Amino acid sequence: MSAIDLNARPSADFNAKLAETAAVLQQAARDYAATTAGGVSRVTQASSLGAEDVVLSHLINALQLDIGIFVLDTGMLHAETLALLAQLQATSRAPVTVYTPVQESVVQFVAQEGVDAMYKSIALRKSCCHIRKMEPLARALAGKDAWITGLRREQSGARAEVPLLDTTDAARVKINPLANWTWGDVWHFIAIHHVAYNPLHDQFFPSIGCAPCTRAVSAGEDFRAGRWWWEDEAAKECGLHAKQTSLIERTPA
Ligand code: SF4
Repeated sequence: MSAIDLNARPSADFNAKLAETAAVLQQAARDYAATTAGGVSRVTQASSLGAEDVVLSHLINALQLDIGIFVLDTGMLHAETLALLAQLQATSRAPVTVYTPVQESVVQFVAQEGVDAMYKSIALRKSCCHIRKMEPLARALAGKDAWITGLRREQSGARAEVPLLDTTDAARVKINPLANWTWGDVWHFIAIHHVAYNPLHDQFFPSIGCAPCTRAVSAGEDFRAGRWWWEDEAAKECGLHAKQTSLIERTPA
């Protein structure tokens, strides 16, 4: 049974949510349009190629918005995720930029701590996330005044208060156009618009990150139970969506 068969159950007010999401994206494109002729938009979509992200990229393309998309290729992604990235790059109207870690940092970290360092301690796991995600993220967001994410309130307790517009970071606004969507809404959209998605979702991976740090979940498990499953629930953010004012400060904690 596919993820669509299992999950595509829209909310009664799905159409209103979709209209809200489209309006938020259109407003973002206007608010953060390039300030100079030939310049680049000051808003960008962060995509991990998960179900929410492919919905947002599809909308950005369908609405023909001047919003670029970026992906962090940590060097640890599943083959299925890399194949979806190649497909997005080949088909997206919006430009897709891939950011990779500084190779010298990766080589040094792996030589010192081992390729399985993330399992040894939370500190080492966060160091790995810093090198492979946070430093590239800082480059991806440099010069941007806003970024678009696929965060939803339903995803976890830590995300239960996610607003449509998060202005708590002085550096840039975080826009969460799917904050109100359910998992059923996401899959309904994917189904009716025939959006390409990561086939790992069909293997009970609701949340997909790096291969060593993602596993399938069982029926009844929390949405993000398959991410860093060996850690306490409270530690389960890689830093990308932590609530601190500085991008760099929020990293390894
Ligand atoms: S999710 Fe895992 S493999 Fe990926 S950067 Fe973080 S610790 Fe490293």
